[in-house]
Amino acid sequence: MARFRQRALDEAASHLQARFFLEEGPVSSYFGENVLDTAKMKDYLSEKAYCAVIDAVKSGKKLDRAFSDEIADGIRKWAMEKGATHYTHLFQPLTGSTAEKHEAFVTFKDGKAMERFKGSALVQQEPDASSFPSGGLRNTFEARGYSAWDPTSPVFVLDGTLCIPSVFVSYNGEALDMKVPNLRSLQALSSAAVKVARLFDSNVSGVSVNLGLEQEYFLVDEALYNARPDLVLCGRTVIGHTSAKDQQLEDHYFGAIPSRVSAFMKDFETEAYKLGIQLETRHNEVAPNQFECAPLFSDVTTSIDQNMLLMIVMQKVAEKHHLKVVFHEKPFDGVNGSGKHCNWSMTTDTGVNLLSPGKTPNKNLQFLSFFVSVMKGVRNHDYLLMTSIANLNNSYRLGGNEAPPAVMSIFAGSTLTAVLDSFLKMQDLSDQEAGRNSIEIVGTIPEIFPDNTDRNRTSPFAFTGNRFEFRAVGSSANAASATYVLNSIVAESLNEFHSCVREREARGESLRDAVAATIRKFIIDSQDIMFEGNGYSLEWLEEAGRRGLRAVRNVPDAYNVYKEEATRRLFTSLGVLSEAEIDARFEVLNEIYVKKLQIEARVIGDICKNHVIPAAVSYENVLIRNVNGMKEVFGEEYKDLCRAEIETLRKVSSFVNRLSDDIESLVDCRRKANAEPDMAVRAKLYSTEVMEAMRRIRYCADHLEMIVDDELWPLPKYRELLFL
Ligand code: ADP
Ligand code: MG
Repeated sequence: MARFRQRALDEAASHLQARFFLEEGPVSSYFGENVLDTAKMKDYLSEKAYCAVIDAVKSGKKLDRAFSDEIADGIRKWAMEKGATHYTHLFQPLTGSTAEKHEAFVTFKDGKAMERFKGSALVQQEPDASSFPSGGLRNTFEARGYSAWDPTSPVFVLDGTLCIPSVFVSYNGEALDMKVPNLRSLQALSSAAVKVARLFDSNVSGVSVNLGLEQEYFLVDEALYNARPDLVLCGRTVIGHTSAKDQQLEDHYFGAIPSRVSAFMKDFETEAYKLGIQLETRHNEVAPNQFECAPLFSDVTTSIDQNMLLMIVMQKVAEKHHLKVVFHEKPFDGVNGSGKHCNWSMTTDTGVNLLSPGKTPNKNLQFLSFFVSVMKGVRNHDYLLMTSIANLNNSYRLGGNEAPPAVMSIFAGSTLTAVLDSFLKMQDLSDQEAGRNSIEIVGTIPEIFPDNTDRNRTSPFAFTGNRFEFRAVGSSANAASATYVLNSIVAESLNEFHSCVREREARGESLRDAVAATIRKFIIDSQDIMFEGNGYSLEWLEEAGRRGLRAVRNVPDAYNVYKEEATRRLFTSLGVLSEAEIDARFEVLNEIYVKKLQIEARVIGDICKNHVIPAAVSYENVLIRNVNGMKEVFGEEYKDLCRAEIETLRKVSSFVNRLSDDIESLVDCRRKANAEPDMAVRAKLYSTEVMEAMRRIRYCADHLEMIVDDELWPLPKYRELLFL
């Protein structure tokens, strides 16, 4: 066998022995030990400094600088007890990953060493981050980017480094990261939701938004991973013929977790628990080597911060197990991709889940108000919401037969659908009468358990009893890229709901009638977004088109939604993004799309030139030697005897020629696209011409993989990568 692949396979086989690095004792004995929460901070700070931190956390305002040196020093002491030697601000740039730059605590003076951590270094850092995309917001010559501690997220120690969760902004305070718009959208949503909730209960003074993130991922043996340049450089395989057996039998989903994998899971869970991440579930997923984990939901910011941290932890722990975690949305063609389901809901400070139907008509009216406001928000901005999850990675998954469809719709389940229908049927009654009847309907909503909302897996956005589940979000994404949009569209819709009710009241309607009439109006306005059927079917795509729901068919095309009036009004009016920030995001999204595809295009070209074609040529030589030998032995009879070999030889050389031409043409397509100065136009060219050239290349390469002698094939195959 090709030496490269054989070595990888041998090494992988040597990893099969399961390893345990387990922490002894119950989780409760070490949970949160590597996080400095506010309770623990008390032991390291003076009363005044401690109050300053609490103030900043509660009000979301900047930390009082008078105390920052003391706070920093207290934090350093704690961190050093945990073995930290360095610190870093950890922020979430627009690339979707996390960024860090480590600095040592140690400083030197007069030949002596001492550990120090100044307040200024805690509160603000100027990372040399000119390489992060800013869409023109941060011209490297005039204004730099700053990361600033977000005291609402606790600091923690990971691998000997104190990590300080931060926001990343430009000199002028413009958002350069994922976190800032998300925080702003949460404020907008919270204040809109409070207004509507207070229609029902004047005791409500705050609403928090909850998020539970289910994380799907693949595991691949490290040696095999390293033998695939495409996995290493792109996070996915750009070529590879599907394995004869993959997920047809669904035996992986229902099977036991392999022991090597469960050892890995236990270990990363331990590390996650120490960091205060409340992991609850783990299981196999549909595709071979695909798994999922999910923590208990918490507020949106914590949930997202912890998810980003969890991905880092999983990758670090995987190293010890000689595994690689593949977070890419579609690492292997032909088997399911991975998502990050966003379970999303709102709770009042009086403890009521606003998306949970209650036992009394009044509570149900409140539930329906929130439910239809989400409906209307999603209907108003269905294409924007779908675009929020669109990027190169997710485009390989989207619209496929397993993944969320590319058109937005909401699944409500049969119980709620019936309630909404009854509301609608009263359209022709007079408003007064309709109001009264609505209350009757509302009185009869039974409690909806998540498990009896018959779980339509084909819906990108499903109601699951007491929350919505946004399923289209990609597994490697920062969930904030989707939640800031979701929060914003619901905030806008709740504001509208509130105004409608108030207007009707001003015209003399009772509050109940006004609410019922507004619910009905919202249902009428947005019923087109509701769909209970099979989201993967062709009929639905056609039907969605008739309803005016746009599908995300091409990612750069979809990004144009950021240029649309409705989108700009949404973000600017809520104070989530300024015009300049919207333009910057548009630019960055296209830039990231181009850069990622550029890498993939280079990688597929290189792999085919350096691995695939040489393997094919070696096989040609084997065939040629065989045919020549047969000719020597059998004379003219060889033609008949070697019919199959000769035919194979023809096929191989024809694919090699095509492949070689296609690689040339890919280079031309890339050159043409790169010459285009407008980033959006360039992205479009990449998404069409470059992508098409890559598709042709893959076709030939995958056919060659099928024909060429397995012994000569240099890259680990799908069946080897996918079955640990
Ligand atoms: P599934 O059956 O959808 O795979 P999981 O148990 O894997 O369910 O994940 C469900 C996620 O939803 C968990 O993170 C859970 O904490 C979260 N969740 C449950 N209730 C709510 C809620 N009201 N709001 C937000 N998230 C919730
Ligand atoms: Mg789920």
